[in-house]
Amino acid sequence: MTRPLPETVQEATRALFDLDVREDTGPMSAAEMQASLRDYDGVVPTLGDLYSQEIFDAVPDPRCRVLANFGVGYNHIDTGAARAAGIAVSNTPGAVTDATADTAMTLMLMSARRAGEGERIVRAGKWEGWHPTQLLGMHLGGKAVGIVGMGRIGQAIARRCHHGFGMNVAYHSRSAKDLDFPAERADSLRALAGSVDVLVIAVPGGDETHHLINADIFAAMQKHAHLINIARGNVVEESALITALQTGQIAGAGLDVYEFEPVVPDALKAMENVVLLPHIGTAALEVRTDMGMMTVDNLKAFFAGKDLPNAV
Ligand code: NAP
Repeated sequence: MTRPLPETVQEATRALFDLDVREDTGPMSAAEMQASLRDYDGVVPTLGDLYSQEIFDAVPDPRCRVLANFGVGYNHIDTGAARAAGIAVSNTPGAVTDATADTAMTLMLMSARRAGEGERIVRAGKWEGWHPTQLLGMHLGGKAVGIVGMGRIGQAIARRCHHGFGMNVAYHSRSAKDLDFPAERADSLRALAGSVDVLVIAVPGGDETHHLINADIFAAMQKHAHLINIARGNVVEESALITALQTGQIAGAGLDVYEFEPVVPDALKAMENVVLLPHIGTAALEVRTDMGMMTVDNLKAFFAGKDLPNAV
């Protein structure tokens, strides 16, 4: 286990396996990742553990047979290289969906209603009392939301927007979806960006989606629109986002993830109209426990010779 996971997850794992827990909370070094492949039958890695082609190449005859990733996003693992090395990979889909969608709603509300800015005024002792034109933001009710990536999390966000806020939902996805709520599939990402009041990013990270949201997309967006990213930092070209915010091309942004995480550019911190959360999409004990139990289920199935319940 490459990070300490909730105690119940450690107990459940220890009940089945001879468990070592790496106590460090930061990502593993290349040497640690190589050692993990060399010395363990199974590994539970997570975000930031960059299992690249080079890491697999450096351990030609690995003892490790399975990487049971803690998290639905697995763009930090080169799955093709893992497969070539004879190592299976699993993830934790579903367990994260509602909590991450809730985080998207938190960011949407905070960004549209200027909540971070307001809280900073109160904390700085600068609030001089209510008045009718103070901190006027954008009301979400009845507005158009565009979901980029209508998968599990995208749909959970869309449901919240439709049922909870009466928003009109449109989306961009590789394939059309059969949905249980009204939502229009946009002709293109650019068309979607240009037509909505809030654009929410919910695609997986990786080469295919790298800088999917770039200067061209910001140029298409409306000046009063907000960008929300709960997916992966490098789906958004951060330098282009900064320019778009600084030049008033868009009205605001709510971010849970960053291109060079955990580095957050000073330019973003300097702007009042940006909400900055420290990647807390799934940060609730129940959710992290459910995610951990899914890694246990995958390890258990794998070593019993069964199919991985959540193979990727
Ligand atoms: P999912 O169910 O696989 O959904 C991803 C969606 O993105 C699918 O609808 C897919 O389309 C679409 N997509 C993929 N590549 C695309 C592209 N190039 N252009 C347009 N659409 C594309 O995954 P999920 O469970 O919703 O999770 C999504 C991502 O959220 C994860 O991969 C992870 O990186 C991130 N996440 C972040 C946090 C956090 O803490 N902030 C927490 C959990 C997850 P098709 O269905 O047509 O293939």
